[in-house]
Amino acid sequence: MLNLRLILLPLFLCFIIHTQAQKQDSISSQKVKALKSEVLKALEGKYKTAQEMVDMVFSFSELGFQEVETSRYLTGILQKNGFTIEKGIGGIPTAWLARWGNGKPVIALGSDIDCIPKASQKPGVAYKEPIVEGAPGHGEGHNSGLPLVILSAIEVKRIMEREKIPGTLIIWPGVAEELVASKAWYIRDGYFKNVDACLFTHVASNMAVSWGDPGSNGLVSVEFTFEGNSAHSAGQPWRGKSALDAVELMNVAWNYKREHLKPSQRSHYVITDGGDQPNVVPSKASVWYYLRERTYEDIKAMYDDALLYANSVAAMTGTKVSHKLLGTAWPQHFNKAIAEAVYQNIKTVGLPVWDSADQQFARAVQKLVNAPKTNQRGDSINGLALKLDTLRGPVQFSWGGGSDDIADIAWNVPTVTLYYPSNIPGTPGHNWADAIAMATPIAHKGVVAGSKVLAATLLDMLTDPKIIAKAWDYFRNVQTKDIKYIPFVQADTPPAVHLNQKIMDEFRPQLKKFYYDPAKYRTYLEQLGIRYPQLEKKDF
Ligand SMILES: [Zn+2]
Repeated sequence: MLNLRLILLPLFLCFIIHTQAQKQDSISSQKVKALKSEVLKALEGKYKTAQEMVDMVFSFSELGFQEVETSRYLTGILQKNGFTIEKGIGGIPTAWLARWGNGKPVIALGSDIDCIPKASQKPGVAYKEPIVEGAPGHGEGHNSGLPLVILSAIEVKRIMEREKIPGTLIIWPGVAEELVASKAWYIRDGYFKNVDACLFTHVASNMAVSWGDPGSNGLVSVEFTFEGNSAHSAGQPWRGKSALDAVELMNVAWNYKREHLKPSQRSHYVITDGGDQPNVVPSKASVWYYLRERTYEDIKAMYDDALLYANSVAAMTGTKVSHKLLGTAWPQHFNKAIAEAVYQNIKTVGLPVWDSADQQFARAVQKLVNAPKTNQRGDSINGLALKLDTLRGPVQFSWGGGSDDIADIAWNVPTVTLYYPSNIPGTPGHNWADAIAMATPIAHKGVVAGSKVLAATLLDMLTDPKIIAKAWDYFRNVQTKDIKYIPFVQADTPPAVHLNQKIMDEFRPQLKKFYYDPAKYRTYLEQLGIRYPQLEKKDF
């Protein structure tokens, strides 16, 4: 009898503990559900805050490495909301980390902040009209991502404080994404060492997330500078050694090489210095290449060949050559467990409710830019998205495409990119037309919807340790099982912070006159005197 009791008692205790644990689990998942609906409701009420932040960053229109006003403004908001700011990370003056919270999990939240050269464009008008002729503008929509992240983080922080939920939030900017020139440096300098997961956001025209290889290219961005000898181009040209000849021969060689590269490669260049004037043999000339491919090995092979060509044309022209790595990105790969968690919340939140003004404007812009009838996946393009994207897995095949240095973070920490619908489908990308919706209700509604998905996912990850555990299992046993991250950035590669300085010095004083003033105007559209949707040019 005694023996039997000794056996039964632990069994009975186990049963009680087990049922209690189950009860606690179900209570906490009920609680999480309630917290999530609370945060979605709170964010629904943040439309005005979203509009103000999105419009403000839009009006700054700052190029990569020169995001001075943007960073000052965004860190100011975060500081006011209790975040601690570490400025100038990675030796980049406009880069920073904003931290709040304690202990695990540590979740990094990021988005890009830089804009596009010569993309200045009035928002809300269905025709081309720059705010400042020739100035940079948000022709990629990077003015919307960090406002989205900040909205979510502040609401989630409020709940974490009240409910005593442990965890650390780190907010960070993708500085100079258009130059793919900061994130590999953040990794090199150890800023993501103790991060458990990274949720990145990027503007798009639908709400989407994917895992695995999305089919993008990685790249190196490298500038070659040749040095020769000047001479009087007419008087004694035989004494000159033209650095521009070297640049031109390099480009000819590379353009012949294209025939023997895989169809997935993308390579493009601009001549950043072609000499001063025709009667002086150019003693200095530079050419800047982006070399893109689908795998590290193929990018490395292109990079090695470009170095070989540069040295060869230097020998041919009697010039000296040096090169600088200005930017780099790995091909992207996103985390499965986190993408699945994000997609559940995408389905809950859904697309924004577009009104007839939004749709009318979107269709007018699509007509203006001669948008294709379907996107590359065959979905029809007609106004704003009305049907949610699906959760996409790894591509089987890709012809290659663009790059984002978020990949360098994603090869070091489980990461996904949440795409949110703040722009019009069918625009060309990196163009003034891509700025046209970015300070209108389309952008604002997309940001609010995206912030809900991000906040809900954050709450899931903070309260359910299984998501991050599964994320690391995928990261270790699938993503990095056979492919190991080898950075192109060396220990002594400086960030190319000199880029765009001259352009911003020229345009910032003119752009300043058009900075958004929320104390005077309800919206930036109002400040610019635009009656959205303004389909035709009118004088009011
Ligand atoms: Zn981008």
